[in-house]
Amino acid sequence: ELETRVDIRSRDEIGALAGAINDLAVDLQHYRDTRQEFFANISHELRTPITYLEGYANVLKDRLYATEEEKDQYLGIIYMEARRIQHLVDDLFELAKMEEGKITLAPEWIDLAELMEQAVNKARLKAADKALKLEYTAEGAPQWMYTDGARMEQIVLNLLENAIRYTEKGTVSMRLSFEAGGVKLAVRDTGIGIPEDELPFIFERFYRVEKSRSRMHGGTGLGLSIVHKLTGLLGGAITVASRPGEGTCFELYFDLRLRPGKDRV
Ligand code: ADP
Repeated sequence: ELETRVDIRSRDEIGALAGAINDLAVDLQHYRDTRQEFFANISHELRTPITYLEGYANVLKDRLYATEEEKDQYLGIIYMEARRIQHLVDDLFELAKMEEGKITLAPEWIDLAELMEQAVNKARLKAADKALKLEYTAEGAPQWMYTDGARMEQIVLNLLENAIRYTEKGTVSMRLSFEAGGVKLAVRDTGIGIPEDELPFIFERFYRVEKSRSRMHGGTGLGLSIVHKLTGLLGGAITVASRPGEGTCFELYFDLRLRPGKDRV
């Protein structure tokens, strides 16, 4: 229920003004709701690892373990949960900077095909750990791109890491295709996929398709919203297609005639 509502419905300027005020009140309420939800999410995300930290620290403190192996196992959990908190704080900070428009891009002319190959190589170890095939192809006449290379790599690495995280067997592939005036980047996997009715939400902060599974994989639920925001900042667009049990494909498109921060529309 809105607290600020002006109940004037006349057809004159006063009525129009009342209407405008009511619209603002709706916006304000929406802002408050999302803000509250955001902080509730953060508290929840922090509470879980902190509970683990407390619990296992107590077990160690009171020497409630039978063997050295058991002790090491608990230390391992403590380490993992501390890293999770670190990861969450880093992601939150990154999002906050972006939302306040405090991210400065450092655009330069880059060889996209080479940069993407490097990004794929950075993901090799993680793919090898799960015995997944990792492929990279570039097609079309290579073109230079005026963009922030580090941010571009961050976007793609994030998608690749997700692809690896949510795939148990098969292939993760990255395809770069240069077209007239633009470039398309596709990150495809043969993983668990995302149900169709959940697709519209996956770029939202803290949204997870399956909470426990994502938690097991060490995710924060913030990665894709960072990817989405960054892609927009660089003047690109992102789309996703997926089939549960078959795999997922994220596609990025950048118009090579636009310059981020300059001719961005
Ligand atoms: P997380 O840190 O939990 O991975 P993201 O924002 O990166 O959060 O992704 C949001 C959710 O989208 C994930 O929890 C996961 O359920 C789903 N998801 C993302 N990428 C993939 C993928 N390649 N295959 C299947 N599900 C995915």
